[in-house]
Amino acid sequence: MEMNIEAIVKQVLEEMQGKTPSAAPSAPAASAAPAAGSIPKTSRVAMLTALEHYDIKEYPIPEIGDDDILVKVEGCGVCGTDAHEFKRDPFGLIPVVLGHEGTGEIVKMGKNVKKDSAGKALALGDKVVTCMIFKDDPEITMFDLNKQNVGGADVYGLLPDDDIHLNGWFADYLVIRGGSSVFNVSDLDLDSRILIEPCAVLIHAVERAKTTGILRFNSRVVVQGCGPIGLICIAILKTMGVQNIVAVDGEQKRLDFAMELGASATVNFKDFKGTEALAGGVKDAFGGHLADFAFQCTGSPVAHANIYKFIRNGGGLCELGFFINGGDATINPHFDICSKEITIVGSWVYTLRDYATTFDFLKSAKAIGLPLNKLITHKFPLDQINEAHQTNLAMSGLKIAIVNE
Ligand SMILES: [Zn+2]
Repeated sequence: MEMNIEAIVKQVLEEMQGKTPSAAPSAPAASAAPAAGSIPKTSRVAMLTALEHYDIKEYPIPEIGDDDILVKVEGCGVCGTDAHEFKRDPFGLIPVVLGHEGTGEIVKMGKNVKKDSAGKALALGDKVVTCMIFKDDPEITMFDLNKQNVGGADVYGLLPDDDIHLNGWFADYLVIRGGSSVFNVSDLDLDSRILIEPCAVLIHAVERAKTTGILRFNSRVVVQGCGPIGLICIAILKTMGVQNIVAVDGEQKRLDFAMELGASATVNFKDFKGTEALAGGVKDAFGGHLADFAFQCTGSPVAHANIYKFIRNGGGLCELGFFINGGDATINPHFDICSKEITIVGSWVYTLRDYATTFDFLKSAKAIGLPLNKLITHKFPLDQINEAHQTNLAMSGLKIAIVNE
């Protein structure tokens, strides 16, 4: 059934493309090797033009307005959201320039641009990241929208194509328009800056977890799922001072990395048959105790159903694995929630305030020697973006990034 829908969507897209005049790449040689410090006339972008297919296109770099910023892109992570768009276009954005985990250098600024969203001064040469776009109220800073998460706001890399085209970070240049949130992160290295967006997701999740009142420094915490999200979760818990962290995953390589990022013990679910046995394994890893608190970081409904068995009576759970609809999970409300008096919070994306916290987290994690940069297992140049996405889909690495030289 799913295959049929994909085939139909593909056909419709191909038909649409037939009617759209293809943008002729204009003089790629002119922009191939700009003199140091100079801004070329055109910029390459990686445009997702069909399912599982990017085309490298070239567009003029426009004159920027008084409130705009022109950024030379240095790098951008490939997100799970990009993978969904690449495979299925659930947001109906094709043709689209994706890439929202990007960072780069300010090469041009409108005369009204003075400060970032945290009040920090902005100057040519500063390294920046973007967060949400508030078209209707460009005055909004991180000090305002404390409670509103990014859901509902626009972000670069998930915008419909327009006549500017430089809308996503999978490109050589990005135009940050007035009304966007932007942060000066010149004091972070490139790898750290590429990791800001996924880390903000976890800063938000931990803030959500803290609202239960159950997560404490001496808590026994289980983190289920050791993809980038679960691994970053472990690093944040470690950095904030939680010492008793058990990581659960089915891949030994990922569990080993979890230990490097702050886990105190690991459980490979492939070593156990059945949920009860697995819960026993988690209990053993905590020295004979169930977890006080659990973070569910997989997109598997079965994993959601299982995790209640790892939590003690009166414990807490933060579910953050379902960025998109992953289907229904079957739990027993009596045994799993009521009789155990479990406190559950859900978490989704982040707020502007979480972004600022993330910058400090990245510095603190580095200071205590957590090798977060090792999360970026693959780096591809922009013209290999199709390969980068296929590598991401193959799930052989952790974080895949596009890095411009
Ligand atoms: Zn993302």
